[in-house]
Formats: sequence, structure tokens, C-alpha cells
Amino acid sequence: MKTGKMNETSFFEKRENMKTILVTGGTGFLGANLCHRLIANGYKVICLDNNYTGRFEHIADLTAHPNFEFIKHDVTKKIEINEPIHQIYNLACPASPVAYQGKHAIDTTKTCVLGAINVLELAKQHHARILQTSTSEIYGKPLEHPQTEKYLGNVNPIGIRACYDEGKRCAESLFFDYHRYEDVEIKVVRIFNTYGPYMNIDDGRVVSNFIYEALAGKNITIYGDGLQTRSFCYVDDLIDALVLVMNSDKDFTGPVNLGNPEECSIKQLADMIIQKIDSSLKVVYQGLPADDPIRRKPDIALAQSKLNWMPKIKLNEGLDKTIAYFKSVLSSNQK
Ligand code: UDP
Repeated sequence: MKTGKMNETSFFEKRENMKTILVTGGTGFLGANLCHRLIANGYKVICLDNNYTGRFEHIADLTAHPNFEFIKHDVTKKIEINEPIHQIYNLACPASPVAYQGKHAIDTTKTCVLGAINVLELAKQHHARILQTSTSEIYGKPLEHPQTEKYLGNVNPIGIRACYDEGKRCAESLFFDYHRYEDVEIKVVRIFNTYGPYMNIDDGRVVSNFIYEALAGKNITIYGDGLQTRSFCYVDDLIDALVLVMNSDKDFTGPVNLGNPEECSIKQLADMIIQKIDSSLKVVYQGLPADDPIRRKPDIALAQSKLNWMPKIKLNEGLDKTIAYFKSVLSSNQK
């Protein structure tokens, strides 16, 4: 039928013009948020993950979508994709200290370094633009405050966080060498603490731990004296920035800091969550882990000037959304 035929043609034309985007680490916290955003924006998305910290449930709702494909694969192994890829977001790496340290430390370094080589080789082969999600951890225990992209950092290369910090530093170096010597179009972003839906409840990072403890009616456990600071960015703001950086001018490689400059102590965060969930809860204190940074706050002037980007969601509002998400996850787990 005429109408049917036209629809079919326009469908294939659309597919032909459509960009295919690979998201490594696509079932993780940021990855799942990004996959949902890219599908909503009309792209074809290939989500690749070994599901070490990622969860298939995070993207299960997308699997019926004609533009979405999931590949279970570990980025430390060579990646082969037999269709043209236009953009790659490399998010594959555990990001919570409890997930990347200890018995997983060597795998973390491999994921950062071998993973970077494998995705960069793929980008070279496909002439794809590639974005590396680096981290504020490359600044280590910063001695400058707030941290600008020019700050070279203060990392303990033999400490328990080094597998992640040095792994991510080496990945940055690989990205810039592939750009310099192999002509790969790169973008490097340094992500500061981020929170929101699709975090695992047992992720181990502070926002999910505090909310989980409070919802379970337990005491809130602060490591150290609680005076250490972080600056927390709501995930939707961060995803806006990732997409903006990916589609920015070819010459803009970064590195660029992405985060919310609103700094808050861990004690203040605990108090906010207690007030929101159950004001009768108490705080208990444990020792501070080795090399835990005392202060962290991004200088985002570069992101503001290059991308016209500023986080919009205040911690108060973002925590409400995150608490609502965790409540819904816990109640569906109980069914
Ligand atoms: N933290 C805490 N209680 C927890 C988890 C973390 O007091 O249950 C502290 C942790 O020691 C650190 C801060 O909160 O000072 C942020 O920790 P997170 O693991 O979220 O991120 P990162 O240290 O990588 O910034």
C-alpha cells in the first residue's frame, strides 16, 4: 500500500541518517542515564557492559526499543562492532571506592588502561568521536581549592585509591596521545561527585549509603569527622553536560571539569538526609579511609564559557528525587 511503502522508506532513510552511539559502561549509574537520554533524543544506541557494577535492570526497559542494543562485554578485551559507529562515550569503570579497591584493584587498572586502548582503537577504526569520562580523582588529595583543569594534582601512586586515580590519569594520557599521533577526535571530561536515579542502593558511595541507612531506620555512618567536603551534582545536569561536550567544536578536547560547585560537608549531607527521612536518626562515626580527600570542589569556569553550562538542580531538590527513586526501588524489590 502506498502509505505503508512511504512509511517504510522514510523509516529506512531515518535509520540511514541516524547516528549510532556506543556507550561503554552503559548499564551503570551514569551509563543508564545516558542511554535513556540518547534514545529519547532519537539516536541508535549500543550499550556495552560486563555488568560488574552495572545492572541489566537499569536498561531492561530499553531492550524492546528498535534503536537499542545491549552487548555483554568486558572492555579489557578487544571490541568489535560490525556497523558504523559515530560517537563513543567511554564510561566503563567501577566508580565507587568500595567497588574499585581491594580485590578488584588490579581489574580496575586494567579496565581504565586496557579499556581506554580498546575503545580508542575502535574510535580510530570507525573514525568516531570519543569522550572519556575521567574524574576529579585525578587531582588526588588536592592542595589547591577549588580545582581548575590546570591543577596537576596530588595523587599517592601507591595508595589504595591509586588503581582508580592512576588508571584514570593513564587513560587521559592515552586519549591525548591517540589525538596527537593517531588523529582521533577526543573529548575528556573530569566528573566530580554525582548522584541520582540508577545508582545502586548498595553502591557504597555516600549519598546512596546515607539514604539506604536512613530508609532502613539505621544510624548514619560518617567516615572521619564529617568535616570533609564534596560538591554533589544531580545526574540530569551531568548528562546535559556530557551531551554538550560530545557535540562541542572539534577543537575543544578538554579536559573540562563537570560538577556542581556547591560544596557541602559530609556532616551537612547526613543532617539533610536525616531531616528528610527521619529526624530521630543518629549519626555514628568510623575511621576515615586512607587517602580520602579532605576537600573537593570543581572550578567550572571552563565548562561555563565553552558550553554555557551550569548545574540547575540544587542539592535539596536532587536529594528529594533520589530518595523517591530509592523508595520505589526498595518497594518493587519487596514485591
Ligand atoms: N563516606 C561516609 N560514609 C559512607 C560513605 C562515604 O562518611 O557511608 C565519606 C567518604 O569517606 C568520603 C565522602 O563520604 O569522605 C564521599 O565518599 P564517596 O565514596 O561517596 O566518594 P569519593 O570519596 O570518591 O568522593
